Amino acid sequence: MPTRMIQGKTLDEWKRELPILSEMTGFHEVFWTNPKFQSDSETSLTIDDVIDAEKRLARFAPYIAKVFPETAKDQGLIESPLFFIPKMLEKLEAFYQNDFLGHLYLKGDSHLPISGSIKARGGIYEVLKYAEELALRHNMLSLDDDYSLLAEQRFKDFFSGYSIAVGSTGNLGLSIGIMSAKLGFKVFVHMSADAKQWKKDLLREKGVVVVEHASDFSAAVEHGRKQASEDPNMYFVDDESSKHLFLGYSVAALRLKKQLEEKNVKVDDQNPLFVYLPCGVGGGPGGVTFGLKLVFGDHVHCFFIEPTHSPCMLLGLMTGLHDEVSVQEFGIDNKTEADGLAVGRPSAFIGKTIENKISGICTVDDDKLFTYLAMLADTEGIYLEPSALAGFSCYVQLFESMAGQKYLSEQNLKPNLENGTHIIWGTGGSMVPEKEMKQYYERGKKTL
Ligand SMILES: *Cc1c(COP(=O)(O)O)cnc(C)c1O
Repeated sequence: MPTRMIQGKTLDEWKRELPILSEMTGFHEVFWTNPKFQSDSETSLTIDDVIDAEKRLARFAPYIAKVFPETAKDQGLIESPLFFIPKMLEKLEAFYQNDFLGHLYLKGDSHLPISGSIKARGGIYEVLKYAEELALRHNMLSLDDDYSLLAEQRFKDFFSGYSIAVGSTGNLGLSIGIMSAKLGFKVFVHMSADAKQWKKDLLREKGVVVVEHASDFSAAVEHGRKQASEDPNMYFVDDESSKHLFLGYSVAALRLKKQLEEKNVKVDDQNPLFVYLPCGVGGGPGGVTFGLKLVFGDHVHCFFIEPTHSPCMLLGLMTGLHDEVSVQEFGIDNKTEADGLAVGRPSAFIGKTIENKISGICTVDDDKLFTYLAMLADTEGIYLEPSALAGFSCYVQLFESMAGQKYLSEQNLKPNLENGTHIIWGTGGSMVPEKEMKQYYERGKKTL
């Protein structure tokens, strides 16, 4: 039998070139530091693009406050709390018998209004941007109007002449589906096989057309893209390469800066900030990282986390091949319980945008997600969905692994670790039905 080639090399040749690959194909956890990490890397997008997105969200705030009353107390701002979690830190120190220096926080995107996950940032932003463009182009709206008028029936009638399509493993579908249906659009959500039944049910209740596919995320996206290309009045939200999704996510950095200031948390050369972001196709963590690097520069250290069974961004970056490789080609099966992270092929747009900005990527075993889920619930009373716990694993590995220690030494971070701030990005959870959450919790509890 001829040896199978992956982009011109055999698997063995790849492993010789990149020894960490042997760990990955054996489904072992890894802590990879990025050899291309550098300060002041160039990108085509700038802080002005982030501020433009922030302003757009502010224009829509009166509309959001009106149609999603749960956002009224924040004047229609879709933002999540920053939780200080000292009891979780204590628990982790006891569990690992180690001192984890610095302060530990959780960014509660699980508690984001409307769709309860990080996708409420990018997904909702992109739908609003499209709606604004259409309304402006048809002279139904001007930039200085009070956008709450978009709740009027005439707008719903107008938007019902247009449709929106998206491919998703679940959470992006929820964000796009709920927001688009509220505005009046027809919506088609192409779901991959791993999408949870309750997510499909919820979307159908909201009037969204859910198209189920037997294939994985990349194929679901392909179906959505094809459907939209055949209909001039259909807009496709492209999770693999959308600049708008990306900018919607990036606004989080401006908001986080404010939240840290309110809590008197300093970020500077003596007070390093570490941020841990679960990664699927890359848009959410990529957009947030892009924003954070603009705001905090070299003082922020961003790590992505992927399941051991779906390390697509890691493969894309370490081989330099981005979306030209999939985990399946390396014999990695892309089977994980972590919703949103079951992605076999990364976004090339994101990979190229953040390849000099991220500090590294960790992989995590599914079982650990449930352990941390139960720990966080017991210590802080906060319930997240499994994928949203991924960051804890990388935080632990930064202190526990040789590669983590090496990073801290090389970046000269050790003298200031006591002043460090660590933020686990809790990317989702509040929409998970109680019955499901109870099963997650019990699975984790058994490991404690
Ligand atoms: C989608 C998602 C992510 C990752 O976002 P990507 O843009 O796919 O990288 C992380 N956590 C949860 C809960 C998600 O739904």
